[in-house]
Amino acid sequence: MKRLSRIAARLAAAVIAGGCFSIMTVSAKSTLKGDMNGDSIIGKGDVRLLQGYLLGDNSIKEEQLPCADIDGDGRIDGFDLALLKKNIASHTDKIPAGTWRAEGSKGVRYYNFRSGTVYDENSGINTSYTCTVSETNLYFDKNVCGDVGHALYSWRDDTHLVLRWDKGYIEELTYFCDAPINYSRMLSGQYVGTGSYGTRTFDFNGLNGTFKNTDGTGMGFRYSVSGNNYVFYLGAAGTPKKAVRTDIDSMHFNLKWEDGTVERFTQHNIVTRAGITYVNGILIANKTYSLPSTYNPGGLTADAQAAFKKMQSDAWNAGYNLWICSGFRSYAYQSQLYNNYVARDGKAKADTYSARPGHSEHQTGLAMDINNASDTFNNTAEARWIAANCYKYGFILRYPQGKQNITGYKYESWHVRYLGTALAKEVYNSGLTLEEFLCIDSVYKS
Ligand SMILES: [Zn+2]
Repeated sequence: MKRLSRIAARLAAAVIAGGCFSIMTVSAKSTLKGDMNGDSIIGKGDVRLLQGYLLGDNSIKEEQLPCADIDGDGRIDGFDLALLKKNIASHTDKIPAGTWRAEGSKGVRYYNFRSGTVYDENSGINTSYTCTVSETNLYFDKNVCGDVGHALYSWRDDTHLVLRWDKGYIEELTYFCDAPINYSRMLSGQYVGTGSYGTRTFDFNGLNGTFKNTDGTGMGFRYSVSGNNYVFYLGAAGTPKKAVRTDIDSMHFNLKWEDGTVERFTQHNIVTRAGITYVNGILIANKTYSLPSTYNPGGLTADAQAAFKKMQSDAWNAGYNLWICSGFRSYAYQSQLYNNYVARDGKAKADTYSARPGHSEHQTGLAMDINNASDTFNNTAEARWIAANCYKYGFILRYPQGKQNITGYKYESWHVRYLGTALAKEVYNSGLTLEEFLCIDSVYKS
């Protein structure tokens, strides 16, 4: 009796809270109920061992004895044997449903055995396969774990599985969510969230991420996604928070959280290559982001020129005459212009209408001034036609009225920037400046 109560105490210590994402470790000493031979798999070998133990034909290692008390009543008897057989029968020949998060020494992977997918978090590679089951064997039609396509599987309980691959690699699986992971709706890279929670920066990596508030506080999280339904598991405790996604355009979506709060997400992938800044792939030159003096496309790009020609022709047919009064400007030429303005009006005033060298959008070869680069153009029929129609040709009015504190420039009815038709339409429909659309600023840092 004394010995059995000791077993019960050890059993109690061995019970692991079955919460989502609890981390389990496999050691030589198994704490898996039913795994009396310590091979991390509950199978016929364990039944034979327990049966032999009860009949007195063999012994079970002392440290594995707690695993034999299947029903947890502090006794090892025929009821445990019956339960073990029943558990094996009910979990045998059954492909686990839902998505499972697997942890092992090679990293984290997500399985959905029914849809036949495994997603590797490190490589970002999603592999499709067909899986068949026979007793406690999972047979894959291709190698899904290194050069292995066969594993023994075993249930710890209804939300925990163990896969033991040929060659000995062990993965601990925890039930993750009901539906298959919708890999096309996974998020990657950086997003800026705006709404009543304040401004938060999210960094996504596979099905993991972190977010940071503007005050520097933040948290790590995991998430699952099925269709437009996301579940975020925040922090170590894994508190689930549900959200439903609604797409706005190619760079924005809303998440509506359970409490009704709507948070707007803006894709925010800022990359610098050879001194040139791209935000979500869009080349940016403003007061924050400058171009190197060596950047010189040699003129307006072919796409920007072709788009202007088409716009010019359609405008002509509608009764308006458009021409380019200033297109590409080199770093050296912008230097000369800016220095002349500074000499005439002083630096503070010159900064409101002329870009410092390297900061002019004209150096990109994607921006142009139409007809007349002065305030007298603002109330002309041509200016109104450009404002209403240029997006159809891939241009946006870059410095709209009343947005000087955002773009860094006063209203310029004549200055357009080429973005291509799809993107220009999205920016036009958003009613935002390019800075607001991309969640970037335009301020000289020195
Ligand atoms: Zn301009």
